[in-house]
Amino acid sequence: MRYDSIIIGAGHNGLVAAVRLAKAGQRVLVLEKRHSVGGIAITEELIPRFHFNTCVDYIRWLHPRLLKELKLEDDRFKVQWTDPSVVTPLPDGNCLRLSADASTTAESIRQFSKADAENWSGFIDRIAQLVAFLEPLYSMTPPPVPDLGLEHLISMRGLLKPLRKYGRKTLVELLRVLPMTMPELLDEWFESEPLRGTLAASAIHGLCQGPMAVGTAYLFLHNHVGCRNGALRPAGFVQGGMGNFSNALAAAAEHLGVDIRTNAIVRKILTDENQAGGVLLGSGEEFKAHRIISNAGPSVTLLDLVGRENLEPRFTRQVKAIKYRGAMARIHLALNDLPRFRVFTDEADLRGVISISPKLEYLEQAYDAAKYGRCSYHPYLEIVIPSLTDSTLAPDGKHTMSITLQYAPYQLRQGEWNKGTKEALLQSALSTVSEYAPGFGDLIEDTVVLSPLDLEEQFGLTEGNINHGEMMLDQFFFMRPVAGWAQYRTPIENLYLCGSGTHPGGGITGAPGWNASREILRDLKN
Ligand SMILES: Cc1cc2nc3c(=O)[nH]c(=O)nc-3n(C[C@H](O)[C@H](O)[C@H](O)COP(=O)(O)OP(=O)(O)OC[C@H]3O[C@@H](n4cnc5c(N)ncnc54)[C@H](O)[C@@H]3O)c2cc1C
Repeated sequence: MRYDSIIIGAGHNGLVAAVRLAKAGQRVLVLEKRHSVGGIAITEELIPRFHFNTCVDYIRWLHPRLLKELKLEDDRFKVQWTDPSVVTPLPDGNCLRLSADASTTAESIRQFSKADAENWSGFIDRIAQLVAFLEPLYSMTPPPVPDLGLEHLISMRGLLKPLRKYGRKTLVELLRVLPMTMPELLDEWFESEPLRGTLAASAIHGLCQGPMAVGTAYLFLHNHVGCRNGALRPAGFVQGGMGNFSNALAAAAEHLGVDIRTNAIVRKILTDENQAGGVLLGSGEEFKAHRIISNAGPSVTLLDLVGRENLEPRFTRQVKAIKYRGAMARIHLALNDLPRFRVFTDEADLRGVISISPKLEYLEQAYDAAKYGRCSYHPYLEIVIPSLTDSTLAPDGKHTMSITLQYAPYQLRQGEWNKGTKEALLQSALSTVSEYAPGFGDLIEDTVVLSPLDLEEQFGLTEGNINHGEMMLDQFFFMRPVAGWAQYRTPIENLYLCGSGTHPGGGITGAPGWNASREILRDLKN
């Protein structure tokens, strides 16, 4: 059968695109190489009777029209926002809490610095104003710079709303802040180290750079698009696990007649005279369609599936130059009891994100090792215990803990990613947690460690980069995935990209899938 559209990959962005195209009357086939839908957004029984979000723990911002138009919010998909969202335990027995309520957070900050507590509400207002410009930008297709036409300027009218509300000075301020390092941004506001470390941690998520790198302020803002009521580092946990979000999307797609096939690896995108017209599976099957849309990363799609022989050398060079440099590892632990952190008095402190980021310099030093191809002995850890908010994830009385660890560079200078290097990584994480939760090691029943190489091999993430491409300013907006090709189209006619390697990049947002399908539907009309 000939489909109107074939989507390669059932990641959440591929599924969003599938739903939108099916709603517009398209006959859609989704081909996913793994055994389940969701891509990175999945929940799996990694240890018998213990269910984990294999990669992604929480949602920060979803494209605003997603929930409404796809009618996702029902029993299948519920998000619980934790409060406090982040707690940072400190070696001296104190801790910092970031809450949804600004005055509660200011009280927590006051123990470290009165001046910082006074500055808190000004800071969150400023961040809210700056990201108010990014939010409409994230819902639009980047213009084809430098060939800007009137129609492209008109399509950027979404920016007028924040411009009217906050004025041109705030827009100029955004341009000033985007390329800053995190210390540069934070120096203007705060002096206390626990606060600086906790905020800077949000600016390095998934990056093989420390917070002192140019442009980390951009990633900080990216991670706060849509942040409401000034809650910084928000964390929305999906009831039943992140996989329920993907399952809800897949159900919506199937309800609209989309065919989804799992265990279906695409080996080649079939092209003829620079036009995409079908795919060849690993099984040898071929499927034809009027257009092919890839949720896989740009390098996988273009270099592996299309093939360099079918691309212009200049374009191939651009794609080869995309920076990935994954530096994140995941550690999952089955625990026979709740860990006892010395500093936390309230169970609510364990429900959100526990951030091991006592100082900004701690994060930079954790990165130092990665510069030389080594894993950090004192890594930055983001710890969650999802079974505390959702008891279905672990057997009665037991718990699941997941740790996101930076820095674990994809390219090791000595040795390679194997059982031994993963064991060393696990030990550095466990000894770091034990500093704050003595005796924690005795609670562990079983562990799973995913290195950046595992993320590449299991999820097709080039160099283990969690966002299909580094989230830095040189890969932002009209330069994502590469300059000149940021409108979700490719030099191969009828071949589109819809994953987080395209604008606006990484995260569980659905925005790349949403924007890409808008462009496809636009082409259909023309
Ligand atoms: C460890 C980790 C932690 C993260 N933490 C967070 C977080 O806390 N919050 C947040 O918002 N974001 C987080 N992210 C980032 C976020 O998860 C991603 O940016 C986002 O999920 C990417 O979604 P996607 O749909 O674009 O791509 P993916 O989910 O990568 O989907 C691509 C799909 O294509 C399939 N595919 C690839 N090649 C082929 C082929 N040849 N044939 C068939 N199928 C193919 C893949 O199997 C996959 O299912 C994290 C990511 C990781 C890895």
